[in-house]
Amino acid sequence: LAAKEASTVAAPGFANAPLLDFSRPEPVAAMVQALAELRAGPELEIAPDTPVHEVRNPAAPEQVLARFPLADPAQGEAAVARALAAFAGWRATPAAQRATCLRRAAAAMLAERHHLAALMVLSVGKNWREADGDVAEAVDFLNYYADAMEALAGWWDTISFPGEANRLGYEPRGPALVIAPWNFPLAILTGMAAAALVAGNPVILKPSRPGLLLGQALHRLLLEAGVPADACQLLPATGAVTEALAGHPDIAIIAFTGSRETGLGLLQAAHRPVPGQYQIKQVVCELGGKNAIVVDSDADLDEAVPAIVASAFGYQGQKCSACSRLIVVGDEAAAEAVARRVADALAVWSWGPPEDPAQVFGPMISAEARDKTLEYIAIGRQEGRLLYQGAVPGEGWYAPPCIFTGIQPHHRLAREEIFGPVLAVLAAPDFPAALKLAQAVDYGLTGGVFSRLPAHLALAAREFRVGDLYLNRKITGARVGAQPFGGTRLSGTGIQAGGPDYLKQFLWTRVVSENT
Ligand code: GLU
Repeated sequence: LAAKEASTVAAPGFANAPLLDFSRPEPVAAMVQALAELRAGPELEIAPDTPVHEVRNPAAPEQVLARFPLADPAQGEAAVARALAAFAGWRATPAAQRATCLRRAAAAMLAERHHLAALMVLSVGKNWREADGDVAEAVDFLNYYADAMEALAGWWDTISFPGEANRLGYEPRGPALVIAPWNFPLAILTGMAAAALVAGNPVILKPSRPGLLLGQALHRLLLEAGVPADACQLLPATGAVTEALAGHPDIAIIAFTGSRETGLGLLQAAHRPVPGQYQIKQVVCELGGKNAIVVDSDADLDEAVPAIVASAFGYQGQKCSACSRLIVVGDEAAAEAVARRVADALAVWSWGPPEDPAQVFGPMISAEARDKTLEYIAIGRQEGRLLYQGAVPGEGWYAPPCIFTGIQPHHRLAREEIFGPVLAVLAAPDFPAALKLAQAVDYGLTGGVFSRLPAHLALAAREFRVGDLYLNRKITGARVGAQPFGGTRLSGTGIQAGGPDYLKQFLWTRVVSENT
C-alpha cells in the first residue's frame, strides 16, 4: 500500500516504550519483589457502612486485595461540580504545560512499572508479559497525546483575504467522564484520560471495579505530575451512578471503552434531552468485537498457528481485539485439520495463577465471566463439534479453553462476543467467500489473514473493512502510534486510539476572523 506518514504528523518525535525482557534475571527479580511487596501490603482503610467494592485475586478469589468505597449519587454530583469549577483554570494552563504533566506521569510510570504490572497480575489475572505490555501502552498513550497536543496547539491560519485575517484554534470541551474497562485497566484508562486532560478538559476517572487499584495508581501519578486535584478526580462508582452522571448537563465528554450493551446505554443516557441541557455531549465510544482470522488454503501454518493461539487465547480471550472465529478456506475437513493443529499447539500450555511466570494463561476476571464462557461452551456443544477442551485448575475463576468446529454463520458462536477462551471454526469455499463471512457480523474491530498470495493480501487490504487488519501476524497487541486502535459498525466510531485523529474528539474548533 502506498502511504503517507500519518503518525509522524500527529505526534512528531514519539517512540514506543520498550517492553521488559523477562529472559534476563533483573526484570524477573524486580517482578518477584514487586509481587511480594504487594502481598504484604496494607489494605485500604474505609469508613464503616460505606458500600464497598472488594478487589479480589481472580486466581485465588478468597484473597481480598483492597476495599474501595463506592460513590453515592450525591458524591457523583459533587465531583461534576468540582470538575466544572476546575475547567477555566485547566483550560487556561498552556498546552505545553499540560503536556509536560503527561510526560512526567509517563516517566514516573516507567520508574514503577514492576509495581504496576504486579498490581495487574494479582488483581486482573494478567500474565507478566501482558501486564508489562499494558503498562508500556499506558506510557505510550501519555507521551503520544502530549506530542499530539503540542503539535495541534496555537492558532492556525485559514484562508485570508486582503483586509481580513482568519484563524482557527482548538478548544477543550469541558468536564470529561472517563469510563474504563478492566481488561486493560491501566492502558485504556490512561489513554482516554490523557487525551481528555492534555486537551484541557478536567476528568473524572471511573475505573472498572476490578481495575480500581490501577485507577488509583494512575490518579496518584497524574496528581504527582502536577495535574490539579480538581482537574483529575477518581470516582469509584456503580454502573447506576455512572449512568446518572452520563446524563448530567455539565458533563461535556464521555469517553467509554467496554461492552456493547453498556456503551449503547451510555449513548442513550448522554443524548436524552434533560432539563438544564446546554450542550451536545461528545461520546467517544469503543465497544466489542467478533473478530476473525482467515486462513487461506496456501497459508504457512507454522506461522499462522502460534498467532491464532496468541490472538484467540491470550489473556484468556478477554480482549475486544481477540480472535473468536477462525475461517479456513476449504471444506470442513480442511478446517478440522487447521483446528487440530491449533488445538495441539494450545495443549502445550497449562493454565494457572499468573503470579507464576511459567503460566501463560490464567483465570477469568470474575465468576460471572467464567459462567458466561461456560454457557457458551454448552451452546457450542449443541451448535458444533467440540474439538478440544483444555484442563484448568479447580480453584479460581478459570474457564477451560475450547475449540469448536462445524460452526455455521448463523450460529450464536459465530455471531456473539463471548470474551472468553472459545474459538469457533468455520469453513469457506474460497477466499472471497471467507472475507465475506469474516464481515458477516455486526462488529468491525480487528481481523486477520494468513495467505502467501499477494493478490489475496491486496484484496483483503481493500475489502476486509475492519478497524485493524493484520496480515500474516497476530491480531492483538496494537501498539500506540503504529496500529491506532478502534473499529467500525458496533465496535466503535472508527476514530482510533493512539492515532492521528483521536485527540480531536476531545476538542472543538473556534475561528477568529479579524477585519485588519
Ligand atoms: N488494544 C488491544 C489490542 O490490540 C485491545 C484492547 C481491548 O481489548 O479493548 O489487543
